[in-house]
Amino acid sequence: MPPSTQFPEPPEGADAVLAGLDPEQRAVATALRGPVCVLAGAGTGKTRAITHRIAYGVRAGIVQPASVLAVTFTARAAGEMRGRLRQLGAGGVQARTFHAAALRQLQYFWPRAVGGPLPQLVERKIQLVAEAAARVRIRLDRNELRDVAGEIEWAKVTQTVPEDYPAAAAKSGREAPRDPAEISRVYTAYEQLKRERSVIDFEDVLLLTVGVLEERYDVAEQVRSQYQHFVVDEYQDVSPLQQRLLDLWVGGRGNLCVVGDASQTIYSFTGATPEFLLGFRARYPDATVVKLVRDYRSTPQVVHLANGLLAQARGQAAAHRLELVSQREPGPEPTFTEYADEPAEAEGTARRIRDLVAGGVRPSEIAILYRVNAQSEVYEQALADAGVPYQLRGAERFFERPEVREAGMLLRGAARAGGGAGAGLDEADVPAQVRAVLGSRGWTPEPPAGSGAVRDRWESLAALVRLAEDFVRARPDATLADLVAELDERANAQHAPTVEGVTLASLHAAKGLEWDAVFLVGLSEGMMPITYARTDEQVEEERRLLYVGVTRARSHLALSWSLSRAPGGRAGRRPSRFLTGLRPGSAARGGAPGGGVRAGVERPAGGRRRRGPVHCRVCGRSLSEAGEIKLMRCEDCPSELDEGLYERLREWRSEQARQLGQPPYCVFTDKTLLAIAETVPSDAAALTRIAGVGARKLRRFGADVLALCAGEEPGSDGGEGGTAGSGKTPGGALDEPDEDSLEK
Ligand code: ATP
Ligand code: MG
Repeated sequence: MPPSTQFPEPPEGADAVLAGLDPEQRAVATALRGPVCVLAGAGTGKTRAITHRIAYGVRAGIVQPASVLAVTFTARAAGEMRGRLRQLGAGGVQARTFHAAALRQLQYFWPRAVGGPLPQLVERKIQLVAEAAARVRIRLDRNELRDVAGEIEWAKVTQTVPEDYPAAAAKSGREAPRDPAEISRVYTAYEQLKRERSVIDFEDVLLLTVGVLEERYDVAEQVRSQYQHFVVDEYQDVSPLQQRLLDLWVGGRGNLCVVGDASQTIYSFTGATPEFLLGFRARYPDATVVKLVRDYRSTPQVVHLANGLLAQARGQAAAHRLELVSQREPGPEPTFTEYADEPAEAEGTARRIRDLVAGGVRPSEIAILYRVNAQSEVYEQALADAGVPYQLRGAERFFERPEVREAGMLLRGAARAGGGAGAGLDEADVPAQVRAVLGSRGWTPEPPAGSGAVRDRWESLAALVRLAEDFVRARPDATLADLVAELDERANAQHAPTVEGVTLASLHAAKGLEWDAVFLVGLSEGMMPITYARTDEQVEEERRLLYVGVTRARSHLALSWSLSRAPGGRAGRRPSRFLTGLRPGSAARGGAPGGGVRAGVERPAGGRRRRGPVHCRVCGRSLSEAGEIKLMRCEDCPSELDEGLYERLREWRSEQARQLGQPPYCVFTDKTLLAIAETVPSDAAALTRIAGVGARKLRRFGADVLALCAGEEPGSDGGEGGTAGSGKTPGGALDEPDEDSLEK
């Protein structure tokens, strides 16, 4: 188990908290009274400054932990903020999303302010929108339903009533998915349906909280007497409705600290606006305004590219851009890579990730970021083929998994029953208790063989065991009940424990986060900017999205695109216009500092990279489906499968997987094994022509596979004999550094 950095010991004293800040950040941390606004670029320590500010106030005894409300925009960010606060010794502070904070208040005050329990939250909004549309006799297909639901959300957060929707949508240049008058009718019917069924939606939570606070002076007073200090992270993405709620919370007292970066506004399409950030000083003329320009996150190379990208930006947010100055040692140049097609891009990316992992970068310190979630699939496949563990962001749903919920219940029961005392366990040894409880539900010290549901379940339980161990390392005197409370808190925030794996996430979901290595993929016109970004403002938002992506990288940054979707397809795509002047071989635009020609375009190296179409080896048809390309034939063309060889390969694979403690697909996927059993390669060159057999796999497994294909025992020339495996002992296999870092 690698040592965890999640819960280190809190430092002593308030001044210790300030020690880790630069002078400007310190100015933020010590300005505990009055309004404070931090306008600063990515990676300059905004989040760090505000968490330290809270911790400083608490530790100096100036601020009561329970009187602070810190708000941010995603459950994950809120969870992360709570984690950082706890590390700094300010555990009792509330850090929530706007929604979570509002929902809590609403639940608390509803019986008194309105009477009865709070109405249920709508679970399936799209379904309700569909019913509303049916009621007003408008037919919407699935995509339209989603888009119309999005329009209703936008209308609500911008406080637009149904009748005003058409005018408001026109004014803000929105491209309505249907006739605005129709949307307005669906919106009306949707609101009616909700009332009839006594349910509320996500946006209502904010609207109703605003309503209660505006109408009930006593409630507003109570909330304000509890919360006296407000901190908002990512303030550039506040919506008018959230701002109204914030104003009600603050109640004119001015104890508000906001931090943001107008260049990272990426939620305008949902109604967010940087105007509140940029207009803060006008609203609070006595505000302390601090600018941070030192970028502590990224190398000068990454920062240079980020600055170059922003130099081409236009519009209001761009006018407030801040040139970043890297504080880090130089690192590798960002790379720009053009691929023939998407599978090649995914394979190339997976290969480079393998190399990074082999070079010592932990998989959890690597991310692949894309524009839309649908892009993940080809990367999932490529990483699986390369044997690299990964997790999809949206792993936020960890606490919703049945096995995790069940484990939570059992742990709660055990905590109530007095920990493991009954089972003869030392009550002080919380991890041992957790292992005992989860052991009854399928947790074992070693992962089970095989992939699929059993393995997934084990992964979840293992993550809980790790979490318990980390927790106790930070708080040695914690009890099982404390751990259960921690789990509840995390579950509320939907904050998943870190899983060791490469992160796959959309650019939107990457906001505020950072990794050592970031791969920005699919950077072609149509994806970046996305096709439906048509107005100048929409295109500018796309550019900011790319800027957010670039600034997530600490040192390795790779940008790539492909010329066609499928192998052999028409190479009609062009690299993103945002890279013009930045990528080598593109004309520099006026104003881009340095012209930014920094790295050579890496064309995927020859050998097995297929530039042209892949043909079915049975019928000769050109193939476009990823699965068929792997098989190297049409799914329904007759296969010349050597059944015996296939079975032997599968047995061999199970043994390898068992020895490596990894799922079999990390050795070879089923499709790759099938292709091997069908083509029966006789030498290394033939073996590498099979998709899923890269240089590493060739080195590691090639001799075994070729021996099996030749009808020999694998590893028979290795001199170690004995096992059905490769002749490598388990220890020998794991001694290789890259395999070590693949370990959970
Ligand atoms: P973003 O705009 O992406 O949200 P941010 O401004 O909130 O970025 P942080 O996440 O707070 O930036 O900080 C970026 C990185 O730099 C973090 O790893 C943080 O720990 C580190 N960092 C910030 N300030 C300092 C400092 N004074 N000394 C050392 N490291 C720092
Ligand atoms: Mg931040």
